[in-house]
Amino acid sequence: MDFASAMRLIEEARPRHRLDIGDPDVPPPPELVEALKNIGDLHYGPPEGLPEFREAVAGIFGVEPDEVVAVAGGRHGLAALMWHFRKKRLLTPSPFYPGYFEIAGVFGIGLELVKTNDNWLPSFSERGVYIVNYPNNPTGIALPKEKVKELVDVAEFVISDEIYRDIVFGEFVSPLELSSEIAVVYSFSKVFSAPGLRIGAVIAPRDVVKEVARFNKATINVPPIHVQRAVASAIGALPRRRREISEIYGRRAELAAKTLRFPLVKPSGAFYVFPRAGPGCFEKALAAGVSVLPGDLYGGPGHIRIALVEPEDALAEAFALLNNACNR
Ligand code: PMP
Repeated sequence: MDFASAMRLIEEARPRHRLDIGDPDVPPPPELVEALKNIGDLHYGPPEGLPEFREAVAGIFGVEPDEVVAVAGGRHGLAALMWHFRKKRLLTPSPFYPGYFEIAGVFGIGLELVKTNDNWLPSFSERGVYIVNYPNNPTGIALPKEKVKELVDVAEFVISDEIYRDIVFGEFVSPLELSSEIAVVYSFSKVFSAPGLRIGAVIAPRDVVKEVARFNKATINVPPIHVQRAVASAIGALPRRRREISEIYGRRAELAAKTLRFPLVKPSGAFYVFPRAGPGCFEKALAAGVSVLPGDLYGGPGHIRIALVEPEDALAEAFALLNNACNR
């Protein structure tokens, strides 16, 4: 089943519990909401982003502002980087975030899959440009440090999609800590519960930053100015926000691991679980009032992806319905 068909079925069924797409339910931080009310000027700006935005993001990552470029959300940054590396051998572990294949499809480029074991850990042995995503959508796992080392040792370059880096309840090591041949894709969609703002950043070596800015210029020219300004002024809220949402989603992940009677690898970040489920579980769950997404969309047939985007009491009810619907 493709994504559009799954969404059509979900819309038609009008389920009581929407645990399908990863749209955060926790309200955005008040600092951001306040900052967005102050429109300021709406002129063009530089394609690499406003100095104040680049400085704010550089501060989070401990890099220089010219190693940061603003993008219109993580997906836009991913597209810019995949375009830049289009002539290289691109690889990504499976299960994967389907957006990578949507981008590769539009650009007409190949993307090879790397197999993972029962704990969703890949073996990195081939040379190439890797696109990795930890904490991971759909599995919620993060790589132990030895695996990150294996990755950076074998990779020509790593595109590290870290849009869930602020939601961690286990160990998370960014490849950026171990190598300089890395471009981190960062986004404010999940950490600030604001995917509609379309703002993110790429943190990369200066030559790659220049190429992403060129991609900006060719596509949107300037990432939303007013949003960059608001995010820069609310950046102080980030450490507190990180703690708050890691605690909230961490409790939900615990509840899932305790309540769901499906075999699953316990997540250490993000807000998804990816249990093994019998055939037809997506349809049966939907009929029982719970929408999830079928694992085949993520390269994991025989699984379902559950987004933990409801409060715990609602999730407890949804998990009971799921257990029942899928005969667990
Ligand atoms: N990467 C991953 C792994 C995601 O899950 C998502 C959104 N669900 C994105 C990138 C893109 O997010 P955005 O463009 O909103 O920053």
